[in-house]
Amino acid sequence: MNSRQSSLSPCDICGATQTLSLTIHNIRHRAHTCRHCTNCVLKQHPGLFCPLCFELHDDSPLPPHHRLMCVRCPAVAHRSCAFPSTNPSAAPAPAPPFFCPTCLDSNFTYFKLPDRKTGAVDVQSAKVLVTAARIAAVSMSKAAAVARFDAERRAREAAVARKRAKDALEHLAEILAREQAEQDEEEQNGTVSAGRRRGA
Ligand SMILES: [Zn+2]
Ligand SMILES: [Zn+2]
Ligand SMILES: [Zn+2]
Repeated sequence: MNSRQSSLSPCDICGATQTLSLTIHNIRHRAHTCRHCTNCVLKQHPGLFCPLCFELHDDSPLPPHHRLMCVRCPAVAHRSCAFPSTNPSAAPAPAPPFFCPTCLDSNFTYFKLPDRKTGAVDVQSAKVLVTAARIAAVSMSKAAAVARFDAERRAREAAVARKRAKDALEHLAEILAREQAEQDEEEQNGTVSAGRRRGA
């Protein structure tokens, strides 16, 4: 894929094309670099962010009583976003079943196209774009780390292979030297004519 193609190619999932407002992100997905639009990035990574405030869940998982998992998919919302009246310091009460926006409505899109007249993107869509871009960036840097790790592993494997080849050569040289020594010994103990034949 050449660079011109990759900068223009549409979302691999929904076919949306890059516009001034809708971004197509380069993202690593199942060991491939894909092109996913903002909406598809979020729909592909339901567990990574709160579907209500679009904040990324960082590496430290939310305490269980602060999170709310969608009944149907791996989406995890802040409990305080789903039920703003909940007092987070209060003893956790059983929460009613939670459905994330995409499970409530299959036509739901995180990113709303801007107002046709004003061209303005709403706050939600702006936040959504940031979240999608960060998910894409994390995936790409993880891929880079994997590539580095792979490169190091291959370098180590190459070193081991070189060492093995060197050992094998040394082993062969030892065997040849021993055989030679045995032969020499045999010749010294053997008939004179055999020694002469070899020397000739
Ligand atoms: Zn898409
Ligand atoms: Zn939230
Ligand atoms: Zn869901």
